[in-house]
Amino acid sequence: MRILLSNDDGYFAPGLAALERALSPLGTVTVVAPERDRSGASNSLTLDRPLSVRRAANGYFYVNGTPTDCVHLAVTGLLEVLPDIVVSGINDGANMGDDTIYSGTVAAATEGFLLGIPSLAVSLVAGEGAHFDTAGRVAADLVARFARERFSEPVLLNVNVPDLPHEQVCGQRVTRLGKRHKAEPVVKSSNPRGQTVYWVGAAGQAQDAGEGTDFHAAANGWVSLTPLQMDLTRFSQMDRIQRWLGAAQTK
Ligand code: MN
Repeated sequence: MRILLSNDDGYFAPGLAALERALSPLGTVTVVAPERDRSGASNSLTLDRPLSVRRAANGYFYVNGTPTDCVHLAVTGLLEVLPDIVVSGINDGANMGDDTIYSGTVAAATEGFLLGIPSLAVSLVAGEGAHFDTAGRVAADLVARFARERFSEPVLLNVNVPDLPHEQVCGQRVTRLGKRHKAEPVVKSSNPRGQTVYWVGAAGQAQDAGEGTDFHAAANGWVSLTPLQMDLTRFSQMDRIQRWLGAAQTK
């Protein structure tokens, strides 16, 4: 089994090392990750400059680009053999609900999915403990399951693991994405030279977090597994937009 790992926290992140430790017994693992923290990079590709790939002492490849760049260049040129699965993470922090739109962790997995490879994004709903080992075991169980029983259709799975010792995790639940309240406002500040700067504010609190959502599962000690798709079409609004355009516009 060939496994490609990436993340958005950077090639030095403890969550990535935990993921590599957990998955190494299952096959040949290659790590291609950003050279710095690119959390929030979403699905961006670097198009205005070339990308460099360097290799760290531990064998990890690191790239001066985004998580999407890493998986894109690994799959379309760097690797001699295509991976059987792409795993991104373990992110230091949840990626639930609207987070998935901004997340570089989810984006790295999405890039694998868009290139035709089954992909997992794994995030730790981090609290004080930072039980990356728990998320590593969850990821290893999923990859081992995939090795035994492959999917006949494309799959992109968003996995959020509660920050608990493994024996305290209740089990796994298939969920839908919840929704957050809108984000906190930007925080206005000044730099040491007296210039005004702004920090992007915190994500909003969970709003739609009822039974069946990723928020609800993780908050109750379950691993949340949400299958994702990339088609953003709002099918239910197509007829309404057509009527809004008016009959004269239909030709
Ligand atoms: Mn991150």
